[in-house]
Amino acid sequence: MSDVALRNVPIAKPVMGQPEADAAQRVILSGWVTQGPEVAAFEHEFATFVGAPHATAVSNCTTALHLALMGVGVGPGDEVITVSHSYIATANSITYCGATPVFVDVDAATKNLDPALIEAAITDRTRAILCVHQIGLPCDLTAIVEIGRRRGLPVVEDAACAIGSEVLVDGDWHRIGHPHGDVACFSFHPRKVMSTGDGGMLTTHDPELDARFKLLRQHGMSVNDRVRHSANQVIFEEHSVIGFNYRMTDIQAAVGREQLKRMPDIVARRREIATRYNDAFAQVAGIEPPHEPEWARSNFQSYAIRIPDGADQRAFMQALLDVGVSSRRGIMNAHREVPYAGDHHLPVSEWAQDRHVVLPLYPTMDDADIEYVIDAVRRVAGDLG
Ligand SMILES: *Cc1c(COP(=O)(O)O)cnc(C)c1O
Repeated sequence: MSDVALRNVPIAKPVMGQPEADAAQRVILSGWVTQGPEVAAFEHEFATFVGAPHATAVSNCTTALHLALMGVGVGPGDEVITVSHSYIATANSITYCGATPVFVDVDAATKNLDPALIEAAITDRTRAILCVHQIGLPCDLTAIVEIGRRRGLPVVEDAACAIGSEVLVDGDWHRIGHPHGDVACFSFHPRKVMSTGDGGMLTTHDPELDARFKLLRQHGMSVNDRVRHSANQVIFEEHSVIGFNYRMTDIQAAVGREQLKRMPDIVARRREIATRYNDAFAQVAGIEPPHEPEWARSNFQSYAIRIPDGADQRAFMQALLDVGVSSRRGIMNAHREVPYAGDHHLPVSEWAQDRHVVLPLYPTMDDADIEYVIDAVRRVAGDLG
């Protein structure tokens, strides 16, 4: 790009500023830093934001998924139907329960779990369905939940990337996390749409499940620190089950509360940038912009294009990097990694990983950054397509 000054455009950047720094400082100086009043307030505000009756904050989304699967009864010897085409934490959370992930392929248009393949994967040992709203695009919840209800299988939603995404249910737009299945799990890793450094959240309609998550995240302890601290009578706590230390700290929760206030703007800006990309890439031969079904509104946690048939993926990404534009290849497949290797037939999942490239998209990109990325993709597609 000889006629334009070279820029450096990263793949993502969290939106963080003085409000988050002040919130962390306030908690640090308060004398109470681990799971306490800020976590309780964050849970309440997050539940309100997604439209869920209950929320439990935990250390990250992987631990959230582990608790969700345990909570719906997944244990040793069970099978859980899921996708391979996801970050490996999805499959790992099943393995932590002593269960086996049974991978089904994704739909070529949405790259999300193909509901038409679920029934054939159900066996006597199937205990749950773990669906993923990959890169923020809601999966076909209506179809998946219908199968789950009919076959008596709980549905857990891996909504790590999907905070602020929406799905059309019975004519109304709902945020992901109501939840539409039995439990939804979110991530606050900096690569997602809002961040607490690291962190996670579970939402559910079921008060008993919610109580179980709150028990299991803190060593199975019958009384939490906040209650014991504020009691004016001596309390002896009990540990009736084997729990975990999956707590979120109050420092993280305070940051999360500030991030939550930004969410409507963050999602609107991400969608605005995605629309600019969509319009531009629709005009570029060989490039296919992402598909959004009419019943889904993605938060565009990531923006992935299909590259021209003739283009080598690595060469395409290198050519972008040569002009300062970071990219990532399509979402990984767990079955291509050592722990989950085996006899799998997942052609669409493999195609999705090999023939797509994730482009920079973050709210603080300016117009020049956006145009720069579009121009770089146009040129590289022309040269390599
Ligand atoms: C990021 C991610 C996770 C893991 O989230 P952490 O908070 O890092 O544990 C799980 N599933 C999917 C689909 C993800 O993208």
